[in-house]
Amino acid sequence: MKRRLVLLGAPGSGKGTQAEIITRHFGIPVTSPGAILRREKDLDTPLGQETAEILQRGDLVPDKTIVKLIEDWLHLHGGYGFVFDGFPRTLPQAESLGSILKSLKTSLDLAIWLEVSEETVRARISGRLQCRTCGFTTSTDSAHFSNRPVCPYCEGSLERRTDDDATVLQQRLREYNTKTQPLADYYGKMSILRKIDGNRDRETVFADIAHLIEDKVAA
Ligand code: ADP
Repeated sequence: MKRRLVLLGAPGSGKGTQAEIITRHFGIPVTSPGAILRREKDLDTPLGQETAEILQRGDLVPDKTIVKLIEDWLHLHGGYGFVFDGFPRTLPQAESLGSILKSLKTSLDLAIWLEVSEETVRARISGRLQCRTCGFTTSTDSAHFSNRPVCPYCEGSLERRTDDDATVLQQRLREYNTKTQPLADYYGKMSILRKIDGNRDRETVFADIAHLIEDKVAA
């Protein structure tokens, strides 16, 4: 079974949602630099303070900072494989990941790219709610609230991410188009790139991902 995966795709393409289902279904540990940085900000740590403004502008955090996060995570938890949600996002990050894995005498099994239209991105992001406490993500459509939106898992407060605002999203999309898109070529050349139509509902998308992880032929 393929256990070392990266999930790539535009903001709102469903990386976080799918990473969470993959972990639940296959028991592969997941990590997301975006989620780590939001948590650091909430805890008011030096890293959180250093990066909060960058996230709020919709820019990417410097490669060095992100690679260090991933490297530390891999040394602590990487023994059982991994799903990275939102890493790598630049060519230097992808190259660093390759070197780190090589030094650990392993390599990446799959780079799964969730392809979505800009229309899907905008619709999902404008209706996205996230739990401040555990990071659970839902949408204003699927959540039924009596008064205050509350997380069904931990009863934390469900809120809109401050970087989900339309202007910030525009910048996040620019970063994605210029810095992340080139990774399709990079992983394509390594023959580990698999593209999946992420515009469909979460169960259908996951069925395709599960086939890839289980080594069956995917749609
Ligand atoms: P989304 O995929 O919806 O954009 P994330 O939670 O993955 O949301 O990322 C939120 C923000 O965290 C990004 O806009 C960026 O500022 C920062 N970030 C996350 N991952 C990376 C990364 N690999 N490299 C640089 N910055 C990152």
